[in-house]
Amino acid sequence: MQAAPMILDGRPMETADTFEVFNPATDELVAQAPACSPEQLDRMVRGADEAFTSWRRDESARRELLRKAADALESHAERLGAIMTAEQGKPLPDSVGEVTRTAGWFRYYADLEVDSVQQRTVDGVFLEVTRQPLGVVAGIVPWNMPVLLIGWKAAPALLAGNTIIIKPSPFTPLTALAVGEIFAEVFPPNVFSVASGPDPLGSQLSAHPLVRKVSFTGSIETGKRVAASASEDLKRITLELGGNDAAIVLDDVEPERFASDLFWAAFKNNGQLCSLIKRLYVPRARVQDFAEAIATVARTARVGDGALEGTQIGPLATRPQWEKIKEFADTAIAQGAVAVTGGKPMEGPGNFFEPTVLINVTDGDRIVDEEQFGPIMPIIGHDGDEDALRRANAGNYGLGGSVWSEDIDRALDLARRFEAGQTAVNHHSRGIRPDMPFGGFKWSGIGVENGAWGYEAYTQLHAVNAPAK
Ligand code: NAD
Repeated sequence: MQAAPMILDGRPMETADTFEVFNPATDELVAQAPACSPEQLDRMVRGADEAFTSWRRDESARRELLRKAADALESHAERLGAIMTAEQGKPLPDSVGEVTRTAGWFRYYADLEVDSVQQRTVDGVFLEVTRQPLGVVAGIVPWNMPVLLIGWKAAPALLAGNTIIIKPSPFTPLTALAVGEIFAEVFPPNVFSVASGPDPLGSQLSAHPLVRKVSFTGSIETGKRVAASASEDLKRITLELGGNDAAIVLDDVEPERFASDLFWAAFKNNGQLCSLIKRLYVPRARVQDFAEAIATVARTARVGDGALEGTQIGPLATRPQWEKIKEFADTAIAQGAVAVTGGKPMEGPGNFFEPTVLINVTDGDRIVDEEQFGPIMPIIGHDGDEDALRRANAGNYGLGGSVWSEDIDRALDLARRFEAGQTAVNHHSRGIRPDMPFGGFKWSGIGVENGAWGYEAYTQLHAVNAPAK
């Protein structure tokens, strides 16, 4: 496959260096991606800063182009989906679905009513409050959702009048580059750009003095580095970081009732979503029953190359992530965990690992306390609603959570007391939508994305005061 080029001033930009992108299902080389040099990155940021001067002026023109961006994503969804599956591994229908879902984010922001100007006159004084854009935004994204997270950042940032440079993960640059090429036909030059390359490109971009805001999605470890670097010149930041979401099943639920939903709420995208079930608390006496019910679903899940029809779960997206998952499983099993199903890598090429359900694990074990971000579900016994909630809220994570019960009021009472950015009843993260805030408590993030709240994070308030006419 030929990687799309980076674009500067509306034209393809040649690079001296390239880097390799591999297919995680086959280990084969997919493409050589362009590697942005520090000098080229500087030109890109300066170009974005110049483009900002005119882009910020006309809100209705911006809305129109956001609509066109949505149309363009939809019309290229099949092609972008195929690129995504080749570099990231997820099943093709999920990749195509991610692209069309991203179009929904552009459409949502194209039509969002925002309170960008307030004017009044009080005691002979004219008072005005406006929302102003910030300037050049850096949108740094991980490898698990290569297109959706671009939409989460670019759509509100562009609506507000900022220009944006997206920095994809070096594991999955190809879909983002293709989006950059498509959007070069939609937006004026340098309004939306993609800078691809191995790190330290991310830190070079986030440290650039003309970048006024860094919107970062990724690991807690890197998020802390971004925050430290941003503090040097007081850049605005939004951080969407890791999660270790707990799901609590109450004692009125039979194990088979939600077995399939619980499984997919942990194993979608092969467990590589920030807001999935990462630890499952069930009534202590029923741990084995729940494990069996969920393992039954796991054994029927079709794991394979995402490009093949019928695949439900692809490989892990990167080799380091596969190694991390193997180490999590090996350590847990060496310490006494029992794999009711799975527990080891699969034969053959690719980063495949068996969907794994572990019991005989508890809080304090690494597999329970840390984010695994892969196909392992630890099931832990709880001693009632309050015990489960206390354990769900323990630790430094606070991204999402869920409560599962036949009694919605009882579940809601518990859900409302989660220390997490988003909590669901009888599902896990299906509630993620453009008009609801998404963010994390504690180490899971700073600020939120989506909705009017996400838009406001790309603006600053300007108060003007003058004698009334
Ligand atoms: P990562 O932190 O390794 O990398 C994320 C991005 O940051 C990549 O583009 C990377 O190249 C770049 N980067 C690396 N060092 C940088 C630096 N010093 N400054 C600026 N950028 C830098 O994360 P990952 O392994 O790609 O993604 C997995 C993690 O992302 C998981 O922890 C997951 O929970 C998290 N995640 C969070 C959300 C959310 O919305 N909260 C969504 C998806 C993923």
